[in-house]
Amino acid sequence: MEVLVLVFGLVIGSFLNVCIYRIPRKESVVTVPSHCTGCNVKLKPYDLIPVFSFLILKGRCRTCSEKISIRYPVIESLNALLYLICYWRFGFAFHIIPKMILCSTLLVISAIDIDTQEIPNGSVLLIIILGLANIFMDPSLTWKDGLIGFIAVSVPMLIIALISNGGMGGGDIKLMAAAGLFLGWKNILTAFFIACLIAGFSGMVLIMIKKRGRKDKIPFGPFLAFGLLTAMFLGQDIIQWYLHFAGIL
Ligand SMILES: [Zn+2]
Repeated sequence: MEVLVLVFGLVIGSFLNVCIYRIPRKESVVTVPSHCTGCNVKLKPYDLIPVFSFLILKGRCRTCSEKISIRYPVIESLNALLYLICYWRFGFAFHIIPKMILCSTLLVISAIDIDTQEIPNGSVLLIIILGLANIFMDPSLTWKDGLIGFIAVSVPMLIIALISNGGMGGGDIKLMAAAGLFLGWKNILTAFFIACLIAGFSGMVLIMIKKRGRKDKIPFGPFLAFGLLTAMFLGQDIIQWYLHFAGIL
């Protein structure tokens, strides 16, 4: 079963790469067949096998030998890995479907945020729809959890953004509202806490090794995505551990 889940994750991951490239360019993700971004030659089916084609072609286009970004196999592998974790964590419950699609959507959001410093509104809308489906399907979540989750992080972020005059991106705020509806208020708070912790730590490391200056903007989306996925998979455990650690339980 694990192998099937991985293969499915790789195939969907390959489609995600198309989305990441075309959505910011406002190109259709379905009607135009896959082509090399260097020479525009239409790709043959045997050049479209996730990860393996990249390895066989040694990361270059068959026709023009333009370098293919390492990001393609990385996105495919990450998507496959996330689907496997979903399968281990949730089994074949119905609510694994919105959760798998959320994983893929967050991968696309992270890559587009790194490329363009923007989070597409369409992807946020998709998470809201997925969130409604998830509340409906996941028995551990109530409508109240979702509705409080919608505002629990997004409203404080909005207030900080208004006070600091644009310290936090509008896309980040919308993402945390939508994801809060999906995960419920406990997990969205955990997700935000993890994201800030990792982002702060990474920022410090980047400044220390002088890769980035203090003023450079680092996209927050990938950190939020990491926090959201960690909270989705381990949220309950993290809260338990924290309460135990704090001596409350
Ligand atoms: Zn080419």
